[in-house]
This record gives sequence, C-alpha cells and structure tokens, in this order.
Amino acid sequence: MKINRLGGIALIFHERKPSIRAHAYELLSRHLPENLPAKTSLLKEASIIRAGEFGEKLIDQLLLPFGSDEFLIGLNLTFPFDGETIQIDHLVLTPSFALTIETKHIKGHVKLDLENEQMYRHEPDGSIFTSTHPPLQAERHRKGLLQIFNKMNVDLPVYSLIPFTHSTVHLEAVGSYTVLPQEICRSGRFTMKLRELCESGLPQKISPLALPQIADTLKTYTVNEKIYHTLDRFNISKSQLIPGVWCHFCSELSCIWTGRRFRCQLCREPNDETYQDTLFVYLTFVSESIANKQARIMLNLTRPGTARILMLKAGLEPFHKTSKRFYRIRKSIRAN
Ligand SMILES: [Zn+2]
Repeated sequence: MKINRLGGIALIFHERKPSIRAHAYELLSRHLPENLPAKTSLLKEASIIRAGEFGEKLIDQLLLPFGSDEFLIGLNLTFPFDGETIQIDHLVLTPSFALTIETKHIKGHVKLDLENEQMYRHEPDGSIFTSTHPPLQAERHRKGLLQIFNKMNVDLPVYSLIPFTHSTVHLEAVGSYTVLPQEICRSGRFTMKLRELCESGLPQKISPLALPQIADTLKTYTVNEKIYHTLDRFNISKSQLIPGVWCHFCSELSCIWTGRRFRCQLCREPNDETYQDTLFVYLTFVSESIANKQARIMLNLTRPGTARILMLKAGLEPFHKTSKRFYRIRKSIRAN
C-alpha cells in the first residue's frame, strides 16, 4: 500500500509484511506424507491466514479515508503478551482512543457461541471448523495493548471492531446470547461503526502533536511473528517428516545433489535455492539448531563438507567448536 502523508506525517505508521506463518506451514506440509490428516489441516490453516490478509486489505480501503494527523493507522503489529504474542491486524491511534480491528474473512454460515467461547462452522465434509470467539480474542489484544500503554505512560482507552469481510458470510449468535456482540459487524457496516466511534465525543486524552511520537514508541515494542508448538498442535512427530529437496517445477521432493548442485531427478532442472526451504523447515519446526549429520539426512547428502558449505551459503550461523558444531538461523522465528 502507498504510504499516505499529510503535512509530513505518515498516516500509516506501521506497514504490513506477508505472513511468515502461512508460508512456513506450506513448506512444512511438503515434507509430510500424503495421507496424513495434519497435512490437510496445515494447508487449511495457511489458506485461512492468506484469506485473512485479503480481508485485511479490504479493511485498509475502508480505513484510509479516515486517516489524518489525528487518526494514525498501524498494520499488522505483533507485541509480546503473557509469554506469547498478540497480533493486531489494524491499530488506530487517535488523541481520544485507540482501536484494534480484527478482520475475519470467513465465508458461509458462521455461528458465534459466547457461552462456549467459540465460533464455528459446519463444513460440507461433515467436520466442524472452530475458532476462538472473536471478542475474546479482541479482549486479549486490548489487555496486551493496555499493558504496553501503561509502560509508555499513555492513558488511552482501547476499543475493538471485528469486521467480517467475506461477501457470503452469514452470522448467527447461538446459545443464550442471541444478539451479536456490538463490536462485530459485516464490512458493509464497518464505516458507519467507525464514524459512530469517532463522533461519540470521547474526551481528548493526549495532544494530537504527541501522536506520531506515541506511534514511534509503540513500534519499538513490536516483535517478529512467532511460530508456536506446531508439531504438537497438529499431532505430527518428527519421524514423520520426509527428508528431501523440493523441485519448483515438479512440486516433488525430487532433487538430488549431483554435479555440484541440486538437480531434479524427474525434470532435470537445477534447483539452487530450494534446499534452504528444507533447512528452514527443520530449524523452524524441529529444532532451533541443526548439526551437520541432520542436515545431511534432511538434504540427502553424503559428504559433510557439502552440507557445511550449503549451510553457510544459506546464511546460517555456526556455533560451538568443530566437533559439536551446530548451525542456526541468525534471527529465529521459533518460539518453542
Ligand atoms: Zn522437477
């Protein structure tokens, strides 16, 4: 998205980066057997993340007309909270309030069950897709943000909006709360909800002049997106991971090291970069460091010297002395 500026102030104070998690799940799924249910679950979660990004871009368009030096917009901010992280799709800062926006891009008949703290949908295949009830997720974001505001000595109330952006979504509150929570709306009503909040006469808590400084300070609290306990969560054991190097053209783990490069056995094309994805999968999901022997197994190599050169070429950082040398990613996204 273009950075809009008004009188030298960046209205977008934090830009969105593409999700590492969706990409990492897709890479991991390549190393799993076809019949493993976890493979389908991983790919489904990756596609939900990508759909979410699509929904967030729709919200960008609705949000931008509000941008001003008293309405700053941050995209996709991740903050530490409670030993884990919170990821806020959109964060608006104004002199009177902060607003977190949690976009849901889900199609179909979605049921919201506040009592059981769930949102769910019956799938055509008979399974049920479930997820945390969005206002509970928004509540966690609010608490995390208030904690950071507190450290910054900023006294701003935090509100939340949860727009559902898919055009075919049908929302239904089930259980004893038959009315949808106030912060939930279809994207068609998003602009109206936002205007209501802006015009609700909330008292000014901070000077508009201080707003860019607060946005800058807030950015210093952000952390990289982290990936948690994926193998456990999807019930995958390390022994199920299939070693090998992916071919870009055949979409198979069909590359072997021959003639000083990885070459696909099926189409004969060289694949010089994809071995890095294999190392990334190991270092993200299995262990935060890899020894030469494991690298040889994962990449189907025989010579330690080849594995060493390839790991250095991939930018991995060696540590420990010669006999017990391990390699790791310089800036890991692993959290477990
Ligand atoms: Zn190939």
